[in-house]
Amino acid sequence: MQQDKKTPVLIDGKLIASTIKEEIKKEVADILDRGQRPPHLVAVLVGEDGASLSYVKSKEKQSQEVGFTSSVYRFPENISEEELLQTIDFLNKDEEVDGYIVQMPLPKHIDARKVTDHIDPKKDVDGFHPVNAGRMLLSLPCYLPATPYGIVTLIDRMGIETAGKNCVVLGRSDIVGTPMSVLMSRKGKDCTVTLCHSKTENLERICAQADILIAAIGKPAFVKGSMVKEGAVVIDVGIHRIKDDSEKGYYVTGDVDYESVAPKCSYITPVPGGVGPMTIVSLLTNTLKAYKKEFYK
Ligand code: NAP
Repeated sequence: MQQDKKTPVLIDGKLIASTIKEEIKKEVADILDRGQRPPHLVAVLVGEDGASLSYVKSKEKQSQEVGFTSSVYRFPENISEEELLQTIDFLNKDEEVDGYIVQMPLPKHIDARKVTDHIDPKKDVDGFHPVNAGRMLLSLPCYLPATPYGIVTLIDRMGIETAGKNCVVLGRSDIVGTPMSVLMSRKGKDCTVTLCHSKTENLERICAQADILIAAIGKPAFVKGSMVKEGAVVIDVGIHRIKDDSEKGYYVTGDVDYESVAPKCSYITPVPGGVGPMTIVSLLTNTLKAYKKEFYK
């Protein structure tokens, strides 16, 4: 007899993101009703990288949808580091700009760390500046990096219990894995966190002990069902386009092998439609906070 597969609860990032966008839109409408200017988000884009172009386009579109003013500063690939730093100085001083992001990656001749360090932490709505990263570590008010911020928002809005749970984070990048591990271990989330990376030994065994497993390693379908505990919450951060024979020419998958993992989960994020839509919405939330000077006067 064939056993029925269990159905996990899908964490619908697309739906939650659109609810949050409606909330932001309403707040912006109230701001305009009071006769004030709308929040202003700027994206700085260097070069013609396809993925960067499409991310910036999407940020611009979604900013406009909630009623923000949205500007894109475009520069050719060969812009000098000095010119880019001057633009950042200008944005730091412009009182009509509440927040801005510098789309990564930058060309090799530009020191990305130097550029990030040059951003005024008050306008660093990506949360990449060391001041915001340090404040996050100390649980002080700050701009949280968009993807981890989006994930904790998903967990909160789904009402997922985190206190005392074992949380395993796969990947230790500065923008996803490391801040994710910090946020899950802070007071309020109260998880016991294990942060794994490419040198981690016994990875399968560690993953199999996770009540909450967050995969951000950038390897398609890496996490298999055999690595997941029954009833676990699985958050898939990965996003990969895999070529196939379909009309589109590709399909999109995450770092998790959905087929084998989903039947074991209590909750799981789909790819696409899980973590992805939350990233831009978190950037919009940070921009609204910047406008309201919630953290820095
Ligand atoms: P990244 O900078 O490439 O970092 C990958 C991390 O995974 C590194 O810490 C690496 O370890 C670790 N790793 C690699 N192979 C491993 C293995 N076999 N076992 C254990 N750990 C391993 O990636 P990222 O920027 O964090 O992004 C991760 C994924 O999320 C990518 O697919 C990316 O496209 C996606 N992403 C999605 C969003 C979204 O909005 N949905 C946003 C950002 C990123 P080492 O440190 O030891 O090298």
